[in-house]
Amino acid sequence: MTTSHTLLILGASGDLTERLLLPGLGSLIAGGVEADKELISGLRILGSGRSERSRDEWQKTVATALDAVGAKGADARQIIADADYVVADPTSKDDLAGILGGVEGALVIYFALPPAIVVKVIDTLAKVELPGGTVLALEKPFASDARSAATLNRHLLKLVPEEQIHRVDHFLGMSTVLNILGLRFVNRLVEPIWNNQNVEKVEIIYDEDLGLEGRAGYYDSSGALIDMLQSHLLQVLSIVAMEAPTRIDPVDFRAATAAVLRATSVWSGVPQLQGTDAVSRRARYTAGTVGTRKMPSYASEEGVDPSRETETLAEMVVSVDTRRWAGVPFALRSGKAIGEPVKQVVLTLKPVGFVPAGLTGAQSRERLVIGLKPETLTFELTLNGDDDPFSLERHDLTTELAPSPLTAYGEVMRGVLGSDPTLSIRGDVAEQCWRIVAPVLNAWKRGDVPLEEYAAGSQGPSSWSHDVTE
Ligand code: NDP
Repeated sequence: MTTSHTLLILGASGDLTERLLLPGLGSLIAGGVEADKELISGLRILGSGRSERSRDEWQKTVATALDAVGAKGADARQIIADADYVVADPTSKDDLAGILGGVEGALVIYFALPPAIVVKVIDTLAKVELPGGTVLALEKPFASDARSAATLNRHLLKLVPEEQIHRVDHFLGMSTVLNILGLRFVNRLVEPIWNNQNVEKVEIIYDEDLGLEGRAGYYDSSGALIDMLQSHLLQVLSIVAMEAPTRIDPVDFRAATAAVLRATSVWSGVPQLQGTDAVSRRARYTAGTVGTRKMPSYASEEGVDPSRETETLAEMVVSVDTRRWAGVPFALRSGKAIGEPVKQVVLTLKPVGFVPAGLTGAQSRERLVIGLKPETLTFELTLNGDDDPFSLERHDLTTELAPSPLTAYGEVMRGVLGSDPTLSIRGDVAEQCWRIVAPVLNAWKRGDVPLEEYAAGSQGPSSWSHDVTE
């Protein structure tokens, strides 16, 4: 079969490849639309890493991942049969030149590598000849601060133009996040209220019941703020707060997300020390039980250095200083080992200002809740009571949205193989995201914000029961 695309995965023996990339590709094969067939047909997956692995073993890895997401047809069988593995060191010029010399069709190089070696690999790639049109896909975290992100961008641009660089944030591929575009921009009921005249606050929350899961090597030097808020949750914010792009394409859509993030900064500029009006909070889990699972304290997990004071729960409040959003706090929160994890975007509306006398009972704030997982949409409204029409009660209008047949990484794969960077992060935006979190990271480094504790299985420190924006 003629190879139309080669997907070269550097670091193919790692966790990302097996757990997310290959299943993502499988979901594109199993659940993609007609246009995706062109990306799949003639696709060769070329895994590469320093560790020994035979072609057979690699084909088994690919087959297991594809099978697990229901990719079992002729396309899947062909891709498995064509998959190959090359033992190579991605920092060796000769090894890379050897691989690239044998590549056929449009080339995508996916960096499934530890962030620490990415610059070295890019510099090595600069010494070999890349086929024209090569797409580079890079994972998060993209560098470690605004300055190193700018440096990494400069190195990348020496290899290929910006449109061929995919800075992956798979949250942009989540169907529920993309649904926000439809909800916001296509509904007369919703579009006119999506602003600071009507919205009191916005919360973007992504908690997990999982703990460290053996990823101390990466997580202990990142923590929840970098792992989740700096990347994923700021991207979700950019979609919640953007102006309507003229088109969903790499130019207009990304310009709209960039405009929002350029206008975003930590609430009032500087994080306060503590107290109910703190604009950032951090905490770390102690031993506890999540569901039926017993979890050790984070500090005693293998590979963790407790003196780093890495947080497993982070919260920060930012402002989006645009005409639409000035004055509205956006609270971002993510934590691990949370007993009842919340994954949602919540818009709380301002009170109406006047309620006719004679309507009694509690009025609750209207809220629009976009469930990211499970995929739901709820309008929380105050309506007349079931028994007494003049007594007010809260009612929820909820709909469950069918999950997309594509996983978030399926959407990532569609973008990289189709050479469409709409849902990847533009270089300047990657730098902006570091700029936004820098005051919080600095305050935490200085010890200005105490590291609190919460038991695994709880909802966070008990003192956090109040809302940070109140
Ligand atoms: P791993 O730590 O598992 O590393 C991937 C592979 O990189 C290893 O199997 C190893 O393969 C190779 N490697 C490791 N060190 C070196 C080195 N010094 N020189 C050359 N190659 C090396 O990473 P993950 O798969 O977990 O993640 C890859 C990327 O994806 C990272 O940037 C991560 O932040 C990001 N990411 C990961 C997620 C996850 O859930 N795993 C989620 C989202 C993003 P070999 O020894 O065979 O060369």
